[in-house]
Amino acid sequence: AVNSPTKRICIVGAGPAGFYAAQYILKTLSDCVVDVIEKLPVPFGLVRFGVAPDHPEVKNVINTFNKTAEHKNFNFFGNVTLGKDISLQELRERYHAVLLTYGADQDRELNIPNENQPNVLSARKFVAWYNGLPGEQHLNPNLSGRSVAILGQGNVAVDAARMLLSSVDALRKTDTTEYALEALSRSKVEQVYLVGRRGPLQAAFTIKELREMLKLPNVQTIWKPDDFTDVPAHLPNLPRPRKRLTELMLKSLSEQSSSSSSNRAQRRFLPIFLRAPKAIGENEIKLTVTQLQNDTAIPTDKIDHLPAELILRSIGYKSTCVDGGICFDDRGGRVFNENGRVLKDATSKSVDKGLYVAGWLGTGPTGVILTTMNGAFGVAKTLCDDIISNEVDTSSTKAGSEAKQYGRVVTWSHWQRINQAEIKAGERLGKPREKIVDVDEMLKVAGL
Ligand code: FAD
Repeated sequence: AVNSPTKRICIVGAGPAGFYAAQYILKTLSDCVVDVIEKLPVPFGLVRFGVAPDHPEVKNVINTFNKTAEHKNFNFFGNVTLGKDISLQELRERYHAVLLTYGADQDRELNIPNENQPNVLSARKFVAWYNGLPGEQHLNPNLSGRSVAILGQGNVAVDAARMLLSSVDALRKTDTTEYALEALSRSKVEQVYLVGRRGPLQAAFTIKELREMLKLPNVQTIWKPDDFTDVPAHLPNLPRPRKRLTELMLKSLSEQSSSSSSNRAQRRFLPIFLRAPKAIGENEIKLTVTQLQNDTAIPTDKIDHLPAELILRSIGYKSTCVDGGICFDDRGGRVFNENGRVLKDATSKSVDKGLYVAGWLGTGPTGVILTTMNGAFGVAKTLCDDIISNEVDTSSTKAGSEAKQYGRVVTWSHWQRINQAEIKAGERLGKPREKIVDVDEMLKVAGL
């Protein structure tokens, strides 16, 4: 229809889910404007603050996000927080459709004694610290001890282990923040345990991350042979990716006794299976020995101890409810939805028309960027279909957002100034960028 008003869509959160959804919507709907509001003055979510600094190739997705941001009908509103600077109610009055993609920025807890002691940190905070997330720059993790225990065996856990075991000189060429490099250069950490409740056949890390670990200079990986007693028998029946991962572990195990050169390695990576965290002690962690029953870890009455001056809890991220208007699943840590359509309430399963969710906020905190991308494209398609079929009403004119309605808003060109300043600061240090870690400084550099 010639006279129909511009379709206004708001996306909350400028991580991969938000950017991929924006890309799809701008391509699909004619005559639409996509406004992205983002809590931080800087975009890209966990691509900037999660992905490990020594994985620069993963961050190439930013090139695609930049293309989307250059679209004339795309607007970025950085430094605007849903639930603080604006409510969901207001957004819904201003837009035909709202898509929530604000991710997961808390962490799950173990609920064991002494978990809140200062020597226990979440891996999320540790990752945020070396990646320069505003608010975590003063974390000051205790790296003065010899041993670190990481509880959990996913790729985030392996990232944290690799950062602790890598040579600082290798990390200097990455965008690891200078204060983290400085702290890591004084680190006394020699060994990192990676503790999992279940066995090698259930290991949550993937083969790429393990291979990287096995190749890390000056680091020896040491397995516990007892953990692998039953493993070879299962090998023929495993699905292919699991089989290859298991074969790599077995190969590494068989080499560890014979290799003498790597015994000279100064640092050690120690995966520990079949142990569940029981309590935090002074400079140690107490573990319950477990047994597998059909892939489930069952506690036994045996107890084990590991020395650890620092303990990193790495058992998953968790989303939170930032606005009372969101139908939020507290137990599942995600927004109640059906294929991305947010529900009005969980029991009736009726859909809250015009409200959508994608990314980790909708699926729970699992999957890589590719998974997030596919999910976001799917939800964006649903949103566009609903608009095209008039399932979502777009007949009335909507106001959208204007920078002046918020406080100090970072637009895309403001972000370009921050970006340029970071790249320039990085050049002096021989790294891709030196991140600005303080929100006020970001705003100052942006000229706000
Ligand atoms: P996020 O990336 O978290 O984006 C959410 C955005 O919303 C953030 O920018 C946040 O600031 C913003 N926000 C939060 N609250 C508000 C609010 N109230 N108002 C407005 N905005 C808000 N995947 C890979 O493929 N390769 C890897 O190597 C890899 N490494 C990873 C390492 C770590 C440590 C982690 C945690 C994840 C890693 N991933 C990796 C997975 C990948 O980061 C996720 O799949 C992806 O970032 C999820 O995207 P998202 O948009 O749902 O959430």
